[in-house]
Amino acid sequence: MMAFALPVPMSLVDLHCHSTASDGVLAPAEVVRRAAARGVAVLALTDHDELGGLALAREAARAAGIVLVPGVEVSVTWRAQTIHVVGLGIDPSHSELVAGLARLRAGRRERARMIAAELARCGIQGSLEGAYAYAGNPDLIGRTHFARFLVERGVAADVKSVFQRYLAQGKPGYVHHPWASLDQAVGWIQASGGVAVLAHPGRYRLSGAALESLLAEFHAQGGASIEVVSGSHSPEDVRRFAHLAGCFGLAASAGSDFHGPEEGGLDLGALPPLPEECRPVWSALALE
Ligand code: AMP
Ligand code: MN
Ligand code: MN
Ligand code: MN
Repeated sequence: MMAFALPVPMSLVDLHCHSTASDGVLAPAEVVRRAAARGVAVLALTDHDELGGLALAREAARAAGIVLVPGVEVSVTWRAQTIHVVGLGIDPSHSELVAGLARLRAGRRERARMIAAELARCGIQGSLEGAYAYAGNPDLIGRTHFARFLVERGVAADVKSVFQRYLAQGKPGYVHHPWASLDQAVGWIQASGGVAVLAHPGRYRLSGAALESLLAEFHAQGGASIEVVSGSHSPEDVRRFAHLAGCFGLAASAGSDFHGPEEGGLDLGALPPLPEECRPVWSALALE
């Protein structure tokens, strides 16, 4: 069933957000209800390395009368850097995708123990239990859960400052971790019928030739789109990535990367417009 005539107006689309199934603060159904209340008509829930929120989100979307695009945000290591690849329109029951993500979540558990050990060396005890107490899904532990615990401990005023002091790359609680390879992530997404989207390219410490190699490699491996509009992009990033999307034959996506009402960043649906020159990724999504 097509719920909307294509193309869907840009202002009604938000293709990147998180729930308690990963590191968001609202349950999947609450995310959907908030999105609907804020005027979003097409929403992708894209939890980190996890599909467990999608069934409840889909049910809530039906009740709210909006379209839920089943999504995921896959953690990837590319040239020793962590990057994120969003999958849109994936099949949450596809065995290859399910198995790949389960391996990533197991790696997260290992990494969490190592993060806690590093923090203990800095004099912060009990952070493993502390972080798990903030994890809405005990199968998906991430740095944001550590950050919320560290704020509770009073080591910094907010999540952003905790990252700057302890959890960002190069800081004492940072643990390098090998995630999926780029071709694995794109492969799982495509195998399950989804479209691979490079998330928030403006956040990576990449520019010039390195950024262009990432985009070329991503495209060559089957990547279809990049986020041009993102909660973490400045107006200049939006212009830059609109241009690069065109150069590399990639469609443009837009997503808030919403994690919660008090988590900073953009709220659901509060997205600036996509530049006119862009080919929107949602025109290629099969909406039902
Ligand atoms: P992880 O996948 O567990 O390494 O955690 C990545 C998540 O941490 C991102 O999706 C954000 O939610 C959060 N994050 C990363 N860097 C920052 C930052 N500088 N400030 C606030 N949150 C951040
Ligand atoms: Mn996150
Ligand atoms: Mn991300
Ligand atoms: Mn995200």
